[in-house]
Amino acid sequence: MTLLELDGLTKEFGGLVATDDVTFDVEEGERVSIIGPNGAGKSTLINLVTRRLEPTAGDVRFKGESILGKKPHEVVQRGISKSFQTASIFPELTVRENAEIAALAAEHGSFRFNFLRHRDRYPAVAELTRETLESVGLHGQRDVPAEDLPYGDKRRLELGIALASEPDLLLMDEPTAGMSPDETSDTVELIEEVKEQLGLTFILVEHDMEVIFSISDRILVLNRGEIIADGTPEEVQGDAAVQEAYLGG
Ligand code: ADP
Ligand code: MG
Repeated sequence: MTLLELDGLTKEFGGLVATDDVTFDVEEGERVSIIGPNGAGKSTLINLVTRRLEPTAGDVRFKGESILGKKPHEVVQRGISKSFQTASIFPELTVRENAEIAALAAEHGSFRFNFLRHRDRYPAVAELTRETLESVGLHGQRDVPAEDLPYGDKRRLELGIALASEPDLLLMDEPTAGMSPDETSDTVELIEEVKEQLGLTFILVEHDMEVIFSISDRILVLNRGEIIADGTPEEVQGDAAVQEAYLGG
């Protein structure tokens, strides 16, 4: 089944064309990476899918239905979630409370902190929270304040917060940016674990080729807002236009 369809998606900032008539589909179960030089339009593309940006032209369809006109939280409720956003963590709340809030927000479109005092009324949220924390390996630390978690576990929690909305499509924009090699390999391991467990469809923007090759089965190459290659890692690696974009300039 086709999960996501980008159709002639164009975004202009003033005179600058950040994404230029981008068209591609993502099938359910695919693990797609988007690569390309700085400024190629990768983050813009992600932000068009999460509805943080309004396209200049074109359409985005999810499960066959256009999401244009939808608010960002409505898109989350439909099953698109973006992960590894540090801003998504409430540092003073516990690991469990962070996951509960994310689960509740996804279910009801908004949350109030006082929900935590009435959590007994939401058994489905409790169950989902437990499953989510188990899937990212944080169930044992559920009562720890998020701010006291070591770095790697904070990344686990960020992923958990995204998974608590039970997404059908997970978006990740440079999850390993600024990480040491050890932190990078821990993050890759985490994404791999979750990918196996949940059979998740994802789109990953990443600059580390080792990371890309180990966790994606399809690569899209973006250059100056346009898709210049689309194929398996092996196909894309041998592509002349890709070599040119990276090496020729
Ligand atoms: P990438 O993520 O591939 O590095 P971006 O999508 O962030 O690229 O940016 C694509 C182009 O759009 C760049 O030239 C960038 O400067 C420009 N751009 C991105 N966001 C904005 C914005 N909010 N306003 C103006 N220009 C922007
Ligand atoms: Mg970017």
